[in-house]
Amino acid sequence: MDGNFNENDISHVVAADKAHVWHHLIQHKPFETNDPRIIIEGKGMRVWDQKGKEHLDAVSGGVWTVNVGYGRESIAKAVYDQLIKLNYFAGSAGSIPGALFSEKLISKMPGMTRVYYTNSGSEANEKAFKMVRQIAHKRYGGKKHKILYRDRDYHGTTIGALSAGGQLERNAQYGPFAPGFVSVPHCMEYRAQWDLTGEAYGKRAADAIEEVILREGPDTVGAICLEPVTAGGGVITPPPGYWERVQEICKKYDVLLHIDEVVCGVGRTGTWFGYQQYGVKPDMVTMAKGVASGYAAIACLVTTEEVFDMFKDDASDPLNYFRDISTFGGCTAGPAAALENMRIIEDENLLDNCTAMGTYMLDQLHALKDKHAVIGDVRGKGLFLGAELVSDRDSREPMDEKRVQAVVGDCNAQGVIIGATNRSVPGFNNTLCFSPALIATRDDIDEIITSVDKALTKVFG
Ligand code: PLP
Repeated sequence: MDGNFNENDISHVVAADKAHVWHHLIQHKPFETNDPRIIIEGKGMRVWDQKGKEHLDAVSGGVWTVNVGYGRESIAKAVYDQLIKLNYFAGSAGSIPGALFSEKLISKMPGMTRVYYTNSGSEANEKAFKMVRQIAHKRYGGKKHKILYRDRDYHGTTIGALSAGGQLERNAQYGPFAPGFVSVPHCMEYRAQWDLTGEAYGKRAADAIEEVILREGPDTVGAICLEPVTAGGGVITPPPGYWERVQEICKKYDVLLHIDEVVCGVGRTGTWFGYQQYGVKPDMVTMAKGVASGYAAIACLVTTEEVFDMFKDDASDPLNYFRDISTFGGCTAGPAAALENMRIIEDENLLDNCTAMGTYMLDQLHALKDKHAVIGDVRGKGLFLGAELVSDRDSREPMDEKRVQAVVGDCNAQGVIIGATNRSVPGFNNTLCFSPALIATRDDIDEIITSVDKALTKVFG
């Protein structure tokens, strides 16, 4: 740390935090006896907390976000320069960074043409759902309005996005939800619903989508929203055959394919977007976390020209445009940071590094699986990896949440921040998550693996 904070300052900050900050996604009772962790500073792969303790961050800011690492002066400078020049004007007008970033982004997304700026992943998904609903009204008399989502997937925290949420922990007690959202079965081979493996399982899981469309009526289903690799629901990589069949089904029933790239987008899996790993051609793509690596708030909904065309001016209908706004969506700091973020990924060959380090880390996780019987499965793409813990390899009984958290806690104590999938619901709470920044080296990966190895030995013997 740079030493700008003295101990009095720190204790004031901790007291103010404890008195006034409502932290995301955690219970506050533990703060009665332990101080919350306050992250003061970051550089590269590492962050420092209020006690001056150094941590290797194996989860890119906790939630798959800081793809290019901490302390990037060129992004800070791009944001500063932009803010001095123009901090804000509403998105009905254009801006220099908004135009240049959209051009750059589209150059990495063949088949896509239009970028709609928002603030968060949830909001980007909401916009996509609204587009589907408006298209249903404009083209299909309101009928083709249903949106399919998959068990275990997550699309955000607002009521609309939760209506498309396949994770019980995030949804419980927040209903009633919006109507017209229908779930399809998950595609997690390790917890297969059918007695099939590999490609046969992948095709069967996709066929289950067709079954839902036929049950609901193809003339009522407007879109399906899917994560390319499911994140918080268990780091679930689809088997071969799945995405090809999903694409066929969407085409056959005229169902828009909306890919939620909020986690996978902008390099996390080793390609610019996760769907590009599977040769998929989406109609709509949403993205957020890695778009500017957390240097500014920015999210986007990207569409094809066909989708855009459906909102083209129509003299006979004064409501025929996308009647949506996001005050801060596209606020100039966001695309300025995002443009520089993409430049860094290109100039430093971070997609290649992500693929190489991801392969290395997956091998290391497999080696840990050979050593520790509690690891039931290891999955991932690029630097987006998970190790599922079980109490019994044969029955695949999920490991008790407290013991999973003990592993996370022990790694933390060793100075390595790792994560686990969502807690409190059996079957969701037992996968250790790893998503180091795309700049990770073999030494960083070795340090993470060593700490997990030690933690597993400590907690399970
Ligand atoms: N979609 C996915 C796949 C996510 O993992 C998340 C957040 O974790 C979201 C959407 C929501 O994004 P945000 O928290 O930016 O609203």
